[in-house]
Amino acid sequence: KARNHGSGSYIFFDDSVREEAVSRLWLEGELRRAIEEKEFRLVYEPVYNLRDRQIIGMEALIRWQHPERGLLPPSTFIEIAEDCDLIVPIGRWVLHEACGQLAVWNRRRDPGKPPLTMAVNLSPRQLNDEGLVAEVANALRGSGLEPEQLTLEVTETAVHEAPQFAQAVLSQVSDLGVQIALDDFGTGYSSLGHLRRIPANALKIDRAFVNGLEHKGGDTAIVTAVVTMAHALGMITVGEGIESEAQYEYLRALGCDQGQGYLFAEPVSAAAFETLHL
Ligand code: C2E
Ligand code: MG
Ligand code: MG
Ligand code: MG
Repeated sequence: KARNHGSGSYIFFDDSVREEAVSRLWLEGELRRAIEEKEFRLVYEPVYNLRDRQIIGMEALIRWQHPERGLLPPSTFIEIAEDCDLIVPIGRWVLHEACGQLAVWNRRRDPGKPPLTMAVNLSPRQLNDEGLVAEVANALRGSGLEPEQLTLEVTETAVHEAPQFAQAVLSQVSDLGVQIALDDFGTGYSSLGHLRRIPANALKIDRAFVNGLEHKGGDTAIVTAVVTMAHALGMITVGEGIESEAQYEYLRALGCDQGQGYLFAEPVSAAAFETLHL
């Protein structure tokens, strides 16, 4: 822990803090380099209609192809990217890449089938950026995508941290016709008041509750309540992290609309997505 020894303001770090500070600093430099060198990739996780198990779209998930450390998941770098504001340029890249990819896929898709949708995750920092609305509009214009085909996923925490600003940004994005989903619903600083103020179209039921469906009676009650509430408010629900047929059956029986998870498909590269799911 860093301790401030009074007016002399000696700052004392113990070893673990120094190591952490050094590694964060290193990572920040590496992230700057990664943006320059275009080392980020997107993988795509299919999303299904639970009633007929037909694919309806996908969620874009970022990866970092590090030259020495291999393919890194977001848990290893997103937080630090947020702390040093690099999430803004990284998030901009994600948005444009995902929209461009979906536009290509929808042009190739059988015109008899409904177009696929793309979900993009936003970090709290991005919601506090007034440039976001213009950036979303840019990505739509640049790709030729219909706004309804894009969903932006935000967490309750983001809305909790900057209620007024985040709400205004989300309303403007929603006015463009873009869909808004509340990610990991039920795990953050949940407040039902948020639901009255945010123009959300979907609630994503966190994996923790989906997981508990087979074993914990309480989770069944929670999922039932969330689905009922969502529908009453005109929103759909998406079950996250479905890993078993039993979880799928429960969710479908409880009226959950859409779902994703390893039971159906794991996130894959664009090339693999084309062969497996298009
Ligand atoms: P999330 O948006 O809730 O995404 C779901 C995470 O669960 C993904 O992890 C996905 O690979 C994983 N997952 C999917 N199905 C299953 C399953 O059946 N079982 C289990 N155990 N896990 C499953 P991933 O890709 O590591 O992403 C973690 C989080 O990082 C995401 O959670 C999201 O909050 C964040 N993230 C991902 N991509 C981006 C991005 O482009 N920008 C920002 N700001 N955040 C991102
Ligand atoms: Mg998500
Ligand atoms: Mg989630
Ligand atoms: Mg999550």
